[in-house]
Amino acid sequence: MSLPGAGLPDSRAATVDLHAHSTASDGVYAPRDVVRAAHEAGLAAVALTDHDTLGGVPEALSTGAELSIRVVPGAELSTRFGDREWHLLALHVADVQGLDDRLAVYREARLARAERIVGRLVELGLPVTLQEILSESGGGSIGRPHVAAVLVRRGYVADFREAFDRWLGAGRPAFVDKDLIGLAEACSMIHEAGGLAVLAHPGAYGRRATLEPMVRAGLDGLEVRHPGHAPDDERRLTNIAADFGLVRSGGSDWHGSPDGHRILDSMRVPHEWLEEQDERVAVRRAGRR
Ligand code: AMP
Ligand code: ZN
Ligand code: FE
Ligand code: FE
Repeated sequence: MSLPGAGLPDSRAATVDLHAHSTASDGVYAPRDVVRAAHEAGLAAVALTDHDTLGGVPEALSTGAELSIRVVPGAELSTRFGDREWHLLALHVADVQGLDDRLAVYREARLARAERIVGRLVELGLPVTLQEILSESGGGSIGRPHVAAVLVRRGYVADFREAFDRWLGAGRPAFVDKDLIGLAEACSMIHEAGGLAVLAHPGAYGRRATLEPMVRAGLDGLEVRHPGHAPDDERRLTNIAADFGLVRSGGSDWHGSPDGHRILDSMRVPHEWLEEQDERVAVRRAGRR
């Protein structure tokens, strides 16, 4: 028998969080503060996965080096496969600048889309300016959450939920489609940058028959653990990952608000999953030589 807490921290199972956002896209905290929060949460590693950008990765890496916490360089790409949008995590990116350069065109498309959303909102009697949205995004990759924040600030809606439910969500009057990268092309881009392509939060859409052609298109892994998943999703996706030889991933998808279980380390992802990913990265890189 040991005393409660004896042997900490070694006896405490190490956990990681492989999905988090910063001010480089639609997160609230700067990359360095995301890494600080991960360190304070006691995580062994955190992945920075901003939407269509790796702009926050260099800062996150240097903060990780200062605090002795591992930072996994990543991004979350908006891709198309079939008739759906699928989010794809790039994890363990080696050529951070190279992949970021290739995503620039999608960030520009996000800017053009924000202009169209502004046009819609003005027509709908909710005057906002592109300038407000740009200042909300602070030079990072622009997304609907930045528009939502402006709608809240102007008092047009009470909160984010109302902004999406009434105006910005799919099928709502101010919804504008994004330019999406084809999934296969996105997987190639990620592989060329030395990373792994991991399908983000497939949830109930993650069925064997749907995922099989996506694996042939280049997927390396599945995010089996995510706050948006039901327990049944994690079980099913874990089985599919094993059958297709995919690595598992998981994370909180933290954007910085203290809402619900989308907080760092809420998913308690075991360090072993990261070790499996490291092995897969090594195999991939060896294969490319
Ligand atoms: P975008 O990349 O511009 O299409 O915006 C998508 C992002 O908006 C997601 O990654 C979420 O962070 C956020 N989002 C999407 N739907 C909602 C919602 N109903 N309520 C709050 N945030 C949302
Ligand atoms: Zn987001
Ligand atoms: Fe996502
Ligand atoms: Fe995300």
